[in-house]
Amino acid sequence: MVMQVIKKCPNCNNVIYDGHDQVGIDIPFKICGRCKTKVIDKSFTEWELKKYVQKISYFFVMVWTSFFIGLLLPIIFIGAYEEGLSSYKVSGEMMFVLWAVGSFLVALKSISNLKRDIKSSKSRMEDPKYRNTLKELGLL
Ligand SMILES: [Zn+2]
Repeated sequence: MVMQVIKKCPNCNNVIYDGHDQVGIDIPFKICGRCKTKVIDKSFTEWELKKYVQKISYFFVMVWTSFFIGLLLPIIFIGAYEEGLSSYKVSGEMMFVLWAVGSFLVALKSISNLKRDIKSSKSRMEDPKYRNTLKELGLL
């Protein structure tokens, strides 16, 4: 479910974010465009800042989500048959195979995204200035 969120600067009430509610691995603060206050954004965190349990659960949520999204593949095939767009009738076993394939493809994509996010997170964390900022904000 996609939700619209508006985040405001606690110092001057300037809108610092207006968009979809996202979570993930990214810079865990935003800089107010008006007063330059650094505002902690709990929707994001660096990979290094995640606790071990959070890393594991992040992975499991990803796998779990893949199973749900993977369900779309057999549903598309069944829908196409029901709508007369395809003459291929999906059997019970085939539905399971399509689900597995769909989930696998989504998981592969998610893992490659995760790898990319961890890599850019690590390169941000290598910058001593950036680490200092995180320390100032009490995040490190
Ligand atoms: Zn501000």
